[in-house]
Amino acid sequence: MLFLVATPIGNLSDVSFRAIETLKEVDLIIAEDTRHTKILLKHFEIDNKIDSLHSFSKEEKILHFVKILKEGKKIAMVSDAGTPTILDPGYNLVKRCYENNVSVCSIPGACALTVALSASPFPKDKFLFLGFLPVKKGRQTIFETIVNSKNTVVFYESKHRIERTLKTLAEKIDENRLICVARELTKIHEEFTVLPAKDIITKKLPFTIKGEFVVMLAPSNFELKYE
Ligand code: SAM
Repeated sequence: MLFLVATPIGNLSDVSFRAIETLKEVDLIIAEDTRHTKILLKHFEIDNKIDSLHSFSKEEKILHFVKILKEGKKIAMVSDAGTPTILDPGYNLVKRCYENNVSVCSIPGACALTVALSASPFPKDKFLFLGFLPVKKGRQTIFETIVNSKNTVVFYESKHRIERTLKTLAEKIDENRLICVARELTKIHEEFTVLPAKDIITKKLPFTIKGEFVVMLAPSNFELKYE
């Protein structure tokens, strides 16, 4: 059985009891970055075998883990933060598990997407999640998709591109359409900023360009009635 174990995205108290139990009980933990995960394991006094599986891992390594799983062993996969496979390594292993009749179980926990979206003021009955926007090829097209979406749009952005991305987006939408920027979720400097496109174009951004970001765009007909 493969367990995908979600780990905190900033606040260690967000780890679940089940995550800790699973990481203690499995035969092997596989991590995106073993050095990073060893810090987490040490904090929770988990002493277990660890190996790596990252975006550049070769197919042989994935098949090696599948072989172990097919022998009936239990493996827990963790990424550096949040839910494995959500814009993090692990997808190929999950696919291989299905192809080899190995069960996959998700141990739920933090995911920047759901943490940001749930506390945003925008509708969440339907939403479009775009991961990281392409940096070059396909960037223009993705902005068209974002702007034309009838539902809330959510995407991840890095501190290096957040300013440029917000300006590009703001220039393509109605000046009153709302954008919500979630920064440093679950950490000391967590903040949610909701602002219309026109403020992004004409004013200095009202948050520090440091840390990690999730950007959300409201549907075009959405408004907030401030009291
Ligand atoms: N698997 C992770 C998850 O479950 O959210 C996402 C990994 S992805 C490589 C990293 C991106 O997620 C960051 O660049 C940022 O956009 C977003 N992110 C992760 N942690 C965050 C946090 N604490 N606050 C805001 N955004 C975060």
